[in-house]
Amino acid sequence: MAKPHIATITAGAASAVLRGHPWIWRDAVTRAAAGAKTGDAVVIHDAAGRAIGQGLWDAASPIAVRVYARSNERLDARSLASAVGRAFARRDRWKDDRETTAYRLCHGEGDRVPGVVIDRYADVAVLRLDGDAILVWLSTLVEGVWPLLQGLGVRAFALRSARGEGEERLRTLAGDPPPKTIAVRENGVVMMVDLAHGQKTGAFLDQRDNRRRVRDLARGRRVLNLFSYAGGFSTAAALGGAEHVTSVDLAQAAHATAQLSMRENGIDPAVHAFVTADAFAFLESAHKKGERWDLVVSDPPSFAPNEKSRPRALSAYRRLHGACAAVLAPGGIFCASSCSSHVSIEDFATTLDDGALGRTDLALVEMHGTPWDHPTVPGWPEGRYLKFAVLT
Ligand code: SAH
Repeated sequence: MAKPHIATITAGAASAVLRGHPWIWRDAVTRAAAGAKTGDAVVIHDAAGRAIGQGLWDAASPIAVRVYARSNERLDARSLASAVGRAFARRDRWKDDRETTAYRLCHGEGDRVPGVVIDRYADVAVLRLDGDAILVWLSTLVEGVWPLLQGLGVRAFALRSARGEGEERLRTLAGDPPPKTIAVRENGVVMMVDLAHGQKTGAFLDQRDNRRRVRDLARGRRVLNLFSYAGGFSTAAALGGAEHVTSVDLAQAAHATAQLSMRENGIDPAVHAFVTADAFAFLESAHKKGERWDLVVSDPPSFAPNEKSRPRALSAYRRLHGACAAVLAPGGIFCASSCSSHVSIEDFATTLDDGALGRTDLALVEMHGTPWDHPTVPGWPEGRYLKFAVLT
């Protein structure tokens, strides 16, 4: 058997790994694994030459090593499958829940299986891989994970890739070919998911509990849902008894899916409004016209793709939140969300201060994060990316 590659890292990086951080940046590697190729298993050594974990090497990414295990167990097909199995076991008590049939089975770094995301949509499972290192392990992973998925009643296992267009983005890995769209349930609400064209693996499952919150808050209110995508918050609000719901998104195709979901839940989409527009421009013109809403939901895409863009992202959030507050009726509720991992909860709160909102009558009553199927490891702050603030 070939001798495993060794990557020696700085004392600082080693202490992060010991706290549970899954990433080793390239500039923290003091002695590289000689001859290691992307996807090769490496043993991680601290500055004193002690083995502290096992990872996968990436020859090109700024993240040189992702950490898969801290034990001395060999990193191979079997240990990888058992790591995914532990992630599945973490969700065991939800596997037969008929009210929620779409949830994340494996949340990559948050489940200590870096780069491996598996979402379940009823009897379909969709895999998404992050990074080239784990891509090398694709067939090994499929072999190990498919029997576990079958045990859960999954009949189709597909790979969703970011590259390519249309059908090619969804590739059958095992079992039946997946349908293009599928109806699932989320806290009892029917949700239509476009597996072939939707974002991520099809839907943003991380907002599940926050959509239920909006459902509980919507009764009798006029609701504005900004960055509405497939209408998760809109459908939730309508089901919760909203008087009227306006959904705003740049993507017209997303509105079609939203309308389909509403119909599946017995709501007539024709009584609500769907606007294809830039949210900032929409808010400005609505404010000029004196339009007001009693509940405003804002869930934009990440404004901060990296640490460098953080200051710019914070000012964009401030601007957005000020524009939302300007159309919020007195006594209204404002739900503001951010999915930027480079924006902490504390940072995010600053974008909701009185100066940003331009009013002094609102207080922060709740701050939420990801739900049970999106676990995080405490030693990896970047994993706590989702913020959902409720102000009233
Ligand atoms: N709230 C959604 C997820 C939103 S994802 C849910 O619960 O599932 C972000 C959405 O913002 C995408 O649909 C994208 O099309 C839209 N978007 C991006 N930039 C935008 C802009 N400037 N104005 C309006 N919509 C935008």
